Amino acid sequence: MKAFRRLARQQRAARLVDISTPTPKDNEVLLRVAYCGICGSDLHAWLNHKGYESVLPEVTFGHEFSGVVIELGSSVKDWMVGDRAVLIALQTHHDDNDPYCAIGLPQLSTRRRVQGLHLDGGMAEYVCVDEEFLLPIPEGLDLKTAAITEPLSVAEHCIGNRTSISSGDKVIVSGPGIIGLLCAISARSRGAEVIISGTERDEATRLSTARAIGFETLVVGPNKPSLTEQISAYFPEGATALVEASGAAHALADAWQSVRPNGTVTAVALYSRNIDLDITQFLRKQIDLRTSYASSRNDYLRALKLLQDGTVDTSLLTQCYPLLNTEQGFIDSENLEVTKVLVDCS
Ligand SMILES: [Zn+2]
Repeated sequence: MKAFRRLARQQRAARLVDISTPTPKDNEVLLRVAYCGICGSDLHAWLNHKGYESVLPEVTFGHEFSGVVIELGSSVKDWMVGDRAVLIALQTHHDDNDPYCAIGLPQLSTRRRVQGLHLDGGMAEYVCVDEEFLLPIPEGLDLKTAAITEPLSVAEHCIGNRTSISSGDKVIVSGPGIIGLLCAISARSRGAEVIISGTERDEATRLSTARAIGFETLVVGPNKPSLTEQISAYFPEGATALVEASGAAHALADAWQSVRPNGTVTAVALYSRNIDLDITQFLRKQIDLRTSYASSRNDYLRALKLLQDGTVDTSLLTQCYPLLNTEQGFIDSENLEVTKVLVDCS
């Protein structure tokens, strides 16, 4: 089968290669992959960035995929050939004695692994997945839309569990990448009024996508008024919540300026450098500064429901590339020319 594989622990060292189709272990199913998204973490791993040292030197990328079951391991009970599924990407085998399993946050366990970084993923024609980490795609939801489940589950965990956003809240999402856009959609689905900010570099693709899906957008940059000044035209008292999804250090450092007292700031991005935070400014407004990491089963289930309800118009968010052009998908993602690449593996 064809697979887009990293071949060495080096920058851009991934190619489309021919490898043998995997055989499912007892507890695994073999899926024929339909679509697989390129995630920010795939991009970091492809570029061999700092912080991604744990990624295998040789591995098939891809953890955001949908597919159809075509073969079952000998002990698999709950799946049948022909079933459609997505997977939980960040995988921790359930253990009653693990405190993070007990509180429904298995993604925080040190036993976690990411399929597509620490074991072979789904940028391929076929992939094996442990049945423990499979979720059925609900009726009426197509395989292409379902491939967005993982990033949407990350947004659902952030907005649903790591903010207090509810109806009537005034929310700024900083950073119009796919996670920012999905956080904005998740906040809007809870009745919040949401504005998305980005830089001039985001204008051509990502901010125009944000407007196309119905959000007000603001551009911040050297020759522009500050975000705080721009926000005051919409939210004179400041925002009740800011979600930092850009990964820009100054966006998090300055977040306290745009948020009203007793508000929340939630960071859902990864930051490539240390950040100088004037915590006293956060403290004097009693701003609750939080982080949000990955997602767990319940977030996936809520994401699947939102997709099934049609809350997310994925046609405006995604662009398809055939498996043969996966490398181009990585290059275009790196250059911010697309919001979300879906690799068509069929
Ligand atoms: Zn992802």
